[in-house]
Amino acid sequence: MTKFSDLNLAPKVLKAVDDAGYESPTPIQEGAIPPALEGRDVLGIAQTGTGKTASFTLPMITMLARGRARARMPRSLVLCPTRELAAQVAENFDTYAKYVKLTKALLIGGVSFNEQDRLIDRGVDVLIATPGRLLDHFERGKLLLTGVQIMVVDEADRMLDMGFIPDIERIFAMTPFTRQTLFFSATMAPEIERITNTFLSNPARVEVARQATAAENIAQNVVMIKGGRRDKAATEKRDLLRALITAEGDSLTNAIIFCNRKTDVDIVAKSLKKHGFDAAPIHGDLEQSQRTRTLDGFRGGELRILVASDVAARGLDVPSVSHVFNFDVPGHAEDYIHRIGRTGRAGRDGKAIMICEGRDEKNLAAVEQLIKKEIPRLDNPLGGNAPETVQPAEKTAKPDTQDKPRRTRTRSKPAKKPQVSAPAETVVETTPVAPVQEQPAQDTKPKEPKQPRNRGGRGRGKDNNKVVGMGEDMPSFIAQSFAERYDD
Ligand code: AMP
Repeated sequence: MTKFSDLNLAPKVLKAVDDAGYESPTPIQEGAIPPALEGRDVLGIAQTGTGKTASFTLPMITMLARGRARARMPRSLVLCPTRELAAQVAENFDTYAKYVKLTKALLIGGVSFNEQDRLIDRGVDVLIATPGRLLDHFERGKLLLTGVQIMVVDEADRMLDMGFIPDIERIFAMTPFTRQTLFFSATMAPEIERITNTFLSNPARVEVARQATAAENIAQNVVMIKGGRRDKAATEKRDLLRALITAEGDSLTNAIIFCNRKTDVDIVAKSLKKHGFDAAPIHGDLEQSQRTRTLDGFRGGELRILVASDVAARGLDVPSVSHVFNFDVPGHAEDYIHRIGRTGRAGRDGKAIMICEGRDEKNLAAVEQLIKKEIPRLDNPLGGNAPETVQPAEKTAKPDTQDKPRRTRTRSKPAKKPQVSAPAETVVETTPVAPVQEQPAQDTKPKEPKQPRNRGGRGRGKDNNKVVGMGEDMPSFIAQSFAERYDD
């Protein structure tokens, strides 16, 4: 069995790994760390939960331990699709670089520009950023990427889903041609393949087996409901959700409930709270400070039920979640695997229950095709005739704001790296390793929530229920009446 000490990591990094209690490297670490330390590009095909974050942070810390950062010119750059993931990566740097003097800055939305500017001005070894915020800083002339020696792209497939690929291409083009690139993606969609062919040079390809089937230790069920008028169906689904949660009794220690739309995340959380459940929402429109507080509470066990959108919950490392509920069948079958993978971690048993309306049966079929099995049907505990709860309408929810991809910037021509015809490949096939360590979320300063801007580029839209034909100026009375119908 390979040991961490076989991997050529700096002694101070090994000491921090030892403190973390890890016994041996995970397959992605074993495959990616040696070529990364040799200065090679790495293409890591691995999902979260496999230890992929340490597979790039450990060699980076080893390589950056020597040398000094210059003002406004970060020496390395890590790009992450969401603020939470960026914060998680920053925590990893804190954990593994505790015996090494490295400076870092986190550039994410919801944190004040001034504080971030100050750090960058002083010079940082590691810059961790979401693409939009990075480009904002760049455009304000506060940042130079010409000193970047190592660039990491984390969760590239999620970047693709969120419409960030043109931003990524632009950022690649702003970094030196000689940089080392460590690129991670759970899947290799054609667009991702194209990017890696363009920007990676002779990469070591390290692949850990994809979770094409959900882990065996997760019991899965689906409850079918007929549905009907959308507002009625939504009320029925919330009644059913409460019944399902209650039916789990004490076996439910904590749960994540996934909804496809941000409005539903808010409505479901509010509804659960009203009915005495300990629940809170998390999605991209909430202030960063609130997101951090909610996540910390959930990780720490003070909050029992987290109601989440895919984007906000993706990649989050919460080691023990007893239940996952899918309030909706996800529109992308792959999201089902990511969602239910939040439970059953570290070899524990988990339970995943989904609600499927008649209109979502096509999506359910896609999920079952992907996981190559039929999800056992569970009888509706309300007998399929859920009573309607009539509640006075309140005017708090917003119109539909499905977690949608950001619009992207205009694409600039990428700086092409020389293509090597037959890249040497290191292929490690194995199953993902479950997490062992819980890490607190980084505390960040709140700022006014920001609306996504139109950057005039492309991006894959997911916004199915958007009111069209009124531009950005949907009259508030329309928004309100839509919300009222769903306000239970
Ligand atoms: P990641 O895939 O980077 O999100 O990591 C998932 C979890 O695995 C995190 O909680 C890490 O702390 C944990 N982890 C990383 N490397 C190892 C290792 N070598 N042994 C055990 N756990 C690890």
